[in-house]
Amino acid sequence: MNNKELFEKSLKYVPGGVHSPVRSFKGLHTTPRFVNRGKGAFIWDEEGKDYIDFCMSFGPLIHGHQDPEIKEAIIKALDNGWTFGACEKYSLELAEYIVNKISFIEQIRFVNSGTEAVMTAIRLARGVTGRSKIIKFNGCYHGHTDSMLIKAGSGLAGEAEASSKGVTKHQAEDTLICELGDLNEVKEVFERFPTNIAAIFIEPLPANNGLLVQSQEFLQGLRDLCTKYGAMLVFDEVISGFRIGFGGMSEKTGIHPDIVTYGKIIGGGMPVGAIAGKKQVMEFLAPIGPVYQAGTLSGNPVAMAAGLVNLKKLTPEAYVKLENNTKNVVALMKDWMDKNGFEDYQTIQYGSLFYPISNHNKLTKIGDLPANMNERFKKLFEIMLNKGIYLAPNAYEVGFGSLAHDEKVQEEMKRRLWT
Ligand code: PMP
Repeated sequence: MNNKELFEKSLKYVPGGVHSPVRSFKGLHTTPRFVNRGKGAFIWDEEGKDYIDFCMSFGPLIHGHQDPEIKEAIIKALDNGWTFGACEKYSLELAEYIVNKISFIEQIRFVNSGTEAVMTAIRLARGVTGRSKIIKFNGCYHGHTDSMLIKAGSGLAGEAEASSKGVTKHQAEDTLICELGDLNEVKEVFERFPTNIAAIFIEPLPANNGLLVQSQEFLQGLRDLCTKYGAMLVFDEVISGFRIGFGGMSEKTGIHPDIVTYGKIIGGGMPVGAIAGKKQVMEFLAPIGPVYQAGTLSGNPVAMAAGLVNLKKLTPEAYVKLENNTKNVVALMKDWMDKNGFEDYQTIQYGSLFYPISNHNKLTKIGDLPANMNERFKKLFEIMLNKGIYLAPNAYEVGFGSLAHDEKVQEEMKRRLWT
């Protein structure tokens, strides 16, 4: 069956044909590709067509598809069994490795996804502070837990309403929405609710509505407000952790959160999420503390073994190469766009993340995104797809470079772009 037939069949058995919405290519004029294999920087679809992959499973494949050492670790772990629901050494080794390398964390708990990590962080922040409200920023994504599926309301700063059916008004009331970059607004919200705010949640490098790089001053301002009002600062580093350097944005900026959430990047493609912080905070979690959290498959040996090898390969040299590879592919893309009717585009790059967007403004909040971006992206995406270059299939998603996008792949990309 070809991609189209497979998708039609999927629509019968699976809501919208997919198990996560962006995969459906909604709003694009082409059918989703059914991927049957990935190797290095390439994926192949069921029709045998190959693509240079810049989605990279939305981030975790820093070493490319089927990295041989990660694969070997997975196979070796499988040989001993793949889940015990009991203590085992793989998760201990991974916890020890991460805690020893990141300066501001003393303990870590593994879960299975970024959503789960954020869900736990919300409960932990509320448990530690005894407060109920959280601040979230317009344009930041923190997974699909109820209290994060909230958008700005039409009233005062901080007012909010649910952005998904199924989320109650009551849940929306406890999430206060602010604009990225607007420290005064956050101050006002704290002044209105000085003793009710448990935490500020932010992606320190917002990468789910384009790439909205924040200033050091803004992030430091949030740190200071949290300290002043006794709230927790939570950095959601599900994308930036271990990708923008080992310690993510927390280490890069030197601004340390009270709680940090990590996700997919740890597992190198295996399902992993994590919550980390100081012992004093983390020990609020069960079984020692009063904040309940659990997971049958949490810290499963296969994901933990993959994660350990994945992270050990992330040496300082690897980060230099990762960023260089990304810089080079972005330059190739920009050069092609400038000469082929996409002069309205800029390509924002930060570390191994990049974002092609149809304007030349500095982007720091979602209001800075251009009105025509979906139409422009549709065109770009389809041209790239036909050339054998697979971008993340949505105008708001960033692109991901990898260590597999090396000089050879760059040459091939140039060839594909210009033929
Ligand atoms: N937080 C951030 C910052 C994310 O980017 C994502 C997903 N990309 C999540 C949380 C949710 O992670 P998951 O899809 O693993 O549940």
